[in-house]
Amino acid sequence: MNLLMWLVLVILVVLALKKKARSTLDQAQTRQNPPPEQPDSRPAAKAETMVCCAHCQMYLPASEAVYGGERGEQVYCSQAHADHA
Ligand SMILES: [Zn+2]
Repeated sequence: MNLLMWLVLVILVVLALKKKARSTLDQAQTRQNPPPEQPDSRPAAKAETMVCCAHCQMYLPASEAVYGGERGEQVYCSQAHADHA
């Protein structure tokens, strides 16, 4: 009976240590990866570069821009404006 008591005690200690270790690990991960509700420290990584149409001066994302002009250095909002210029 005494042996069983020790066995239970050892299991409880091991479980407590595992729980403590997991809690410490969670805290470390939280420090490395802040929760999403916190303000993003790198907004530029998500914001796309905005370019200005050379014809109508409208701003648009660079991925949607149409490049035209003699050497392709002009930026336009649409193919129609690239042709018009
Ligand atoms: Zn335009």
